[in-house]
Amino acid sequence: MTDLKLAIFGSTGSIGTQALEILSNSGNLFQISALSANNNYQLLAGQANLFKPDVLILANTEHRNKFEKILSYKPKEIIYGNDGLDNFALKGEYDVLLNSLVGFSGFMSTYNALIRHKKVALANKESLVVGGEIISALPAFKEGKLIPVDSEHSAMLQCLAGENLKDIQKIIITASGGPFKDYTAQQLKNVKVEDALNHPNWDMGAKITIDSSTMMNKGLEIIEAKWLFNIPVSKIEPVVHPQSIIHSIIEFVDGSSKAQLGPPDMKVPILYALTYPERINYPNPTLDYTQAMNLDFRPVDFDLFPCIRLAIDAAGEGGFQPAILNAANEIAVDRFLKREIRYIDIPEIIESSLHNIHSDKEITPHALQTIDRETRAFANTLLK
Ligand code: MN
Repeated sequence: MTDLKLAIFGSTGSIGTQALEILSNSGNLFQISALSANNNYQLLAGQANLFKPDVLILANTEHRNKFEKILSYKPKEIIYGNDGLDNFALKGEYDVLLNSLVGFSGFMSTYNALIRHKKVALANKESLVVGGEIISALPAFKEGKLIPVDSEHSAMLQCLAGENLKDIQKIIITASGGPFKDYTAQQLKNVKVEDALNHPNWDMGAKITIDSSTMMNKGLEIIEAKWLFNIPVSKIEPVVHPQSIIHSIIEFVDGSSKAQLGPPDMKVPILYALTYPERINYPNPTLDYTQAMNLDFRPVDFDLFPCIRLAIDAAGEGGFQPAILNAANEIAVDRFLKREIRYIDIPEIIESSLHNIHSDKEITPHALQTIDRETRAFANTLLK
């Protein structure tokens, strides 16, 4: 058994379950020191009984009794409530944090882990979208302690191995285009929750699947790339690549480009982030290039998908704009999933929030939390 301790935040989500699946198949990469869930206490207990971490974190306290009854061992500590994650990130025992929390609520955990110079495998893109200015200024970030799990950014990191950031001419970030890439504006008006949750290539959680369908996901990823690789958004070019086999391309100043290819399976970038800079065996079938296949590219339709334009503009303006964009989007997606608003209302709510919320404070974790709270409250009142 290795001595390297891994904490997984959001272990019952899509990334968390896939990470544990890899770890159970690839021997003793890590000792799991902590697992966390928001609501799904049954799955958390199942994972805990298998991996026996010292610490379990369950945000929803309601399930306390039922949860402890189905545990087959006695962990050293069970932490309940919403502050558990941030506190564990700040004080708990781990060498690597896989942060697969969804939304801005994952920011403080990334921040706290980096403050302690821990390695962070980052699946919580909002940490950088909202707090990129703060995160990228931390010494641990400059030491390379933050490794992206997002497949596009994993591709960029892999293409940049052995390169200098100053030699990047542009980054071509690929997008599947989501389930509505061939829709008309008229058809988009009638999109139902079920349609939007049905992604052609990737198996992901509900929030990111909706973001992928509106192309907000690509917008957020452009902001994520901006901070990760210290590159202006004007040099990041989104392109629709429906097969999701090329995960991104870096073009260098001398006219040469490098792309990273792989099956559309999140286990590949999860594995890379966990073992970086080393590589270990991938247990599943890989792509078979001897079979006829096409790799297609087409431009992004910014008129049909206004969310990606809103994100690019917010990133260009900087300041609190990305934080407002993200908070408004989180609320809009949540309200769409609850069937309170129509699909095409999502960009309306975001745009209205960007116009109405302002702050001239200095960007600090506290100021980000304040603007996040204000934006959520505002976005919740729209179209009522
Ligand atoms: Mn991605």
